[in-house]
Amino acid sequence: MTTMPARPSAQMPVAASDVMLELRHLSKRFGSTKVLHDIDLVVPRGSFTVFVGPSGCGKSTLLRLIAGLDAPSDGQILIDGRRVDTLPPAARGVSMVFQSYALYPHMTARRNIGFGLKIAGQSAADIEARVARVAGMLQIGPLLDRKPAELSGGQRQRVAIARAIVRDPKVFLFDEPLSNLDAALRAETRVELARMHADLGATMIHVTHDQVEAMTLADQLVVLNGGRIEQVGPPADLYRHPRSLFVARFLGSPQ
Ligand code: ADP
Ligand code: MG
Repeated sequence: MTTMPARPSAQMPVAASDVMLELRHLSKRFGSTKVLHDIDLVVPRGSFTVFVGPSGCGKSTLLRLIAGLDAPSDGQILIDGRRVDTLPPAARGVSMVFQSYALYPHMTARRNIGFGLKIAGQSAADIEARVARVAGMLQIGPLLDRKPAELSGGQRQRVAIARAIVRDPKVFLFDEPLSNLDAALRAETRVELARMHADLGATMIHVTHDQVEAMTLADQLVVLNGGRIEQVGPPADLYRHPRSLFVARFLGSPQ
């Protein structure tokens, strides 16, 4: 197989009004260690974008920068055309689902899901109605009075996803939300995430180190390696036309 030089492929141009998230020259250093190098990326409105790459390549760091949980060392982040890199997390219009789910252990599922709305000053009646609607969607209505310790791993994960949906964000950020589930539940949840994406018409950024998950969920795949973007594009294009040996091996392209 011939391989092109390992340079990030140029993204297909996207009209400005169709861009939901844009990263410009984004870099991150921890002390003297640079973990993200000059990331340029456009995430189209309504896309299911998957960041895939081996452990330690910078996926979580990149999500944390977008969410505002950490500050970039350089570069800019725009959401819906607006600079957000100096805004606090709650003002960015993003919801993040963490690998560990990060539910509040002392709160019921209902309060966990509604907590962000309460902080945002919504009325108790509005919160109740929105929590009920989202709980119905994820089929966790009967579990709303339980605390996280009284829920299975899969149920906790649904509560974490419900908490993200209920805030009606512009962008969903999922940091390996399936990695703690067993294989059967993982496959089932993958299907549900795809359905949720279709139903909500939302922009989703999903992080995984799992090639199958990446190939099946993504309409835009971003392959990361050592804090750099190796290649971006539709998964079938990357699979068939990997621009580097790294991408070919990682996606299991025929050699
Ligand atoms: P991934 O999510 O792809 O596994 P991470 O974004 O968690 O990778 O980490 C990327 C690199 O940055 C790793 O080498 C990790 O050790 C380092 N790193 C992440 N967070 C910190 C931190 N707060 N301080 C120092 N190094 C960090
Ligand atoms: Mg990670």
